[in-house]
Amino acid sequence: MGHIKGLKCRECGREYPVEPIYVCEFCFGPLEVAYDYKSIAKAISRKKIEGRDKNLWRYRELLPVDGEPQVGLNSGYTPLLRADNLAKIIGVDELYLKDDTVVHPTLSFKDRVVSIALTKAKEFGFDTVACASTGNLAHSVSAHGARAGFKRFIFIPATLEASKIVASLVYEPNLIAVDGNYDDVNRLCSEVANKYRWAFVNINIRPFYAEGSKTLGFEIIEQLGWKAPDNVVVPCASGSLLTKVWKSFKEFKDVGILKELGTRVFAAQATGCSPIAAAIKQGTDVIRPVKPNTIAKSLAIGNPADGFYASQVVKETGGFAEDVSDQEIIDAIKLLARTEGVFAETAGGVTLASTIKLVQTGKIKRESSTVICITGNGLKTQEALQGHTPQPHHIKPSLASFEEVLKKINQGQ
Ligand SMILES: *Cc1c(COP(=O)(O)O)cnc(C)c1O
Repeated sequence: MGHIKGLKCRECGREYPVEPIYVCEFCFGPLEVAYDYKSIAKAISRKKIEGRDKNLWRYRELLPVDGEPQVGLNSGYTPLLRADNLAKIIGVDELYLKDDTVVHPTLSFKDRVVSIALTKAKEFGFDTVACASTGNLAHSVSAHGARAGFKRFIFIPATLEASKIVASLVYEPNLIAVDGNYDDVNRLCSEVANKYRWAFVNINIRPFYAEGSKTLGFEIIEQLGWKAPDNVVVPCASGSLLTKVWKSFKEFKDVGILKELGTRVFAAQATGCSPIAAAIKQGTDVIRPVKPNTIAKSLAIGNPADGFYASQVVKETGGFAEDVSDQEIIDAIKLLARTEGVFAETAGGVTLASTIKLVQTGKIKRESSTVICITGNGLKTQEALQGHTPQPHHIKPSLASFEEVLKKINQGQ
């Protein structure tokens, strides 16, 4: 049995039953899952978690499902890598990568949210799942939905990376490419969701879906030996992941799994789409929507649904935000690959490049511990690196030709 009490409005606190709804009828605030933390505290322990399979369902008491999970049994529990080579270069003592580029079937952190959303969609009895996506969600819903036997309607901006379109199409969903940016796609999907009884994972299933992001935070705590880091840097699109990483830390504290919590939460965005970072840097609570223009397409949400809440978490924890140019994103992707052997997508470049700025400006202290969230795999956004990598050494199939090149390589060093 689950430990959900119901849904609750984040603004006015009004309570609702567990249904595929997402907005308060009275104040239009977003709904959130409410749990019975007293019963969870009794049911959960470090030992119990450690004895379970290494996937995201090991934290199931704090996830919004009632029955046995059916989706995402191969998602989650990604590596937490200590990054000493990179730490030396950027000038910090203790640096970790939460590496969501691997393990997940579709190679991004979206497999976390989709695992919860589709399990919940099954519980609600839906036969069709849908989403509005900046790319990785399309890929993930297409894949997990195929295996779980759902009909799938996937809405994307038509300008998405070609590789992400192919990666979704191979699972044969109904892929709808919309002439417009993500915010146009999302607006259209709200209309479609009102008309058709489908499980839109990030619309009417959003309160449940978003809870899946907490598993990234739970894993960080467990993998640090049941300790919270001094700092965590999170890339923001809608801002949901950032709020849920913080929620996961707080929940572990509330149910007695974590003893101390003093983490500062930092937001990372691309300058070409930085409504959340801009508000934080300007010290205002007003998130001003923008028209995205960045190579970090997975983060290109100009009117972020959770932007306000993300900025409040950053403020409340004493964190800050940074934003970075396309060139800085590319340089950071290459730096991460060169130093730690991790190939991140553009969102990972945003996170690392922002972290470097936060260290340079003293917002992240050199002697503190920092976890940076690398949320997607670079194989998915290879086109961003076109013309930015070295060329191969081209030779004839002869030893002489190879040794000519070898001489040049050795001279170059
Ligand atoms: C979706 C996404 C995020 C963050 O999304 P939020 O909407 O802020 O929760 C971060 N990184 C990648 C690679 C993503 O696809």
